[in-house]
Amino acid sequence: MIAVDRGTVTSHRRGFLGGLCSCAMLGLAGCVTQGNEPPLTSGYKPAASTDEGGLWHVMNRVETDIKRSRHLIRDPAWDAYLRGIMTRLSADFSSDMRIYLMRTPYFNASMAPNGMMQVWTGLLLRVDNEAELAAVLGHEMGHYMQRHSLAKLRDARARADVATFLSVGLGAVGSLAGIAMMAGHFAFSREQEREADEIGLNLMTRAGYTPIAASEVWQQLLEEQKVDPNPKNDSIMFATHPSNDERMTTLRARAEETGVKGEAYAERYRARIRDIRFMLLEDELRLRQYERSLVLLQRLQKETPGDGELVYFEAETYRLRDKDGDRTLAETTYERALLAPDAPPQAWRSLGLVQRRDGRHEAAQQSFKKYLDLRPDAEDRAIIASYMEKSA
Ligand SMILES: [Zn+2]
Repeated sequence: MIAVDRGTVTSHRRGFLGGLCSCAMLGLAGCVTQGNEPPLTSGYKPAASTDEGGLWHVMNRVETDIKRSRHLIRDPAWDAYLRGIMTRLSADFSSDMRIYLMRTPYFNASMAPNGMMQVWTGLLLRVDNEAELAAVLGHEMGHYMQRHSLAKLRDARARADVATFLSVGLGAVGSLAGIAMMAGHFAFSREQEREADEIGLNLMTRAGYTPIAASEVWQQLLEEQKVDPNPKNDSIMFATHPSNDERMTTLRARAEETGVKGEAYAERYRARIRDIRFMLLEDELRLRQYERSLVLLQRLQKETPGDGELVYFEAETYRLRDKDGDRTLAETTYERALLAPDAPPQAWRSLGLVQRRDGRHEAAQQSFKKYLDLRPDAEDRAIIASYMEKSA
């Protein structure tokens, strides 16, 4: 929910600064400070000679790189699904925007001024239903429609920030540190965020989604934030957005005012995410922010109790966290996962690893064998087989 793409802003520094749009973009020609720009109409394209045209030009080049990014998930089913939501939110504007699904395990979405939206997979993992996702997409569309990036660019007070953003940003080549730094330099104002929230809420309500979902997204993030001992793990969005408590409360009150109940489309969302959820949960655990992951996993299990995959990942979290008592907790949780008909075979492997570490070699042997029987083509077959030989 940040102004400009921060995901893969790339190495156009020289080209950009030496190019036609640098003066206009940096405001060196002495742009007048402006608070708000008139909203866009659908189908709008700025003239190339304007500062806005320059901004679009840079972002079009960034978009070319995004299309080639190794983080981009190229999946026609996801593209159609996301586009479908966007079209329900605004049929008029949806053809002016493109959504890119980026495999990055943090909660974030962003909108560039040229209509390029990014959705990160950490967000997909953290929304419970389609309405929550629609709330985020609607918010981002609000930034686009209101031309918030342009307003920021023309705001003299922000000029130094924008200049820093551009110099840092265009050299950052998609590193997460670079992304976070840029986010801090090119954040929208609180008023812009409130405006985008309002637009998002209106769009989703009109489209038949339940408006309460917008505040629920923030509530979930706050719950994760509360348990995290390391504030550095805060979502990039926390660094750039207005107080989340305030935002959650406002959105809740506004949703109640609408008097609209609407649909959440939870089942449809779960069916959509099912084929990539295992991969996304693996990405999540690689962040080693176990307290947050546990909040997330326990919340997801409330929605679908007894889901073998979620119980397995909860057990994985204990095993990897490895605090006092975690090994026992992991073992009982793997056993619980294995009661579910959809338990991933990996639960046997990990159970075997815990048993092996405890010196229970016979039990470990049996668990490993079950794993390899269920996944004869497992990518880690050789290593698991070698564990079996050693403990035989
Ligand atoms: Zn935002």
